Amino acid sequence: MSELNLILLGPPGAGKGTQAQRLREDFRLPYIATGDMFRAEKEKGTELGKELAKYMDNGDLVPDELTIKLIMERINAPEAADGFILDGFPRTIPQAEALEAEMERLGRSITAVLLIEAPDEEVIRRISGRRLCVKNPEHVYHVDFDPPKHDEKCDFDGARLVQREDDAPEKVKRRLEVYHEQTTPLIDYYDERGLLRRFDGTRDKTEVHDHIRATLATLRLEETL
Ligand SMILES: [Zn+2]
Repeated sequence: MSELNLILLGPPGAGKGTQAQRLREDFRLPYIATGDMFRAEKEKGTELGKELAKYMDNGDLVPDELTIKLIMERINAPEAADGFILDGFPRTIPQAEALEAEMERLGRSITAVLLIEAPDEEVIRRISGRRLCVKNPEHVYHVDFDPPKHDEKCDFDGARLVQREDDAPEKVKRRLEVYHEQTTPLIDYYDERGLLRRFDGTRDKTEVHDHIRATLATLRLEETL
């Protein structure tokens, strides 16, 4: 079987998390999300974890070298022998180049970069429409797509519904600006290398998932020819 070494890209709210979850189930690939990885390593209290804690506790960015080292440990582990799903890294071209060089040393390469896209106005609508129950934040609603039965009240417990501070439209717009600024060069970089595959995140989740699966099946077929 050929490897599926995948990178996920896309703005917040385009459904990247959902698709990652489904791909993990489909292909039994380890999911390497840098944020989670940092937190886990820190909790384990390893030497690397202690080094990470120094940056994280100060609110500083973790240096690329350290991030790459951790990612390569995961990529080189037996459970990633058939591939992996990388999310949250790379974010810059130097990071992408470093990853490429490290992969090459292992005799491996990136199979595809999956970009799940959605226009800004759609992302803003999706995220800023979210409402959470003040009693139980797992009770989640959306003013357009999944409204509560009674205005601004939780269906389960009648508690008040609120918008998370980060979900306010201005905050989402700012996040999108940062996303575009960082990711546009990276998208071009992978596009030039013929690795980029685009998916329409405004479509139904299952449709997007089917499209990704079909694309990956074609890639694997091409590889074996
Ligand atoms: Zn509730």
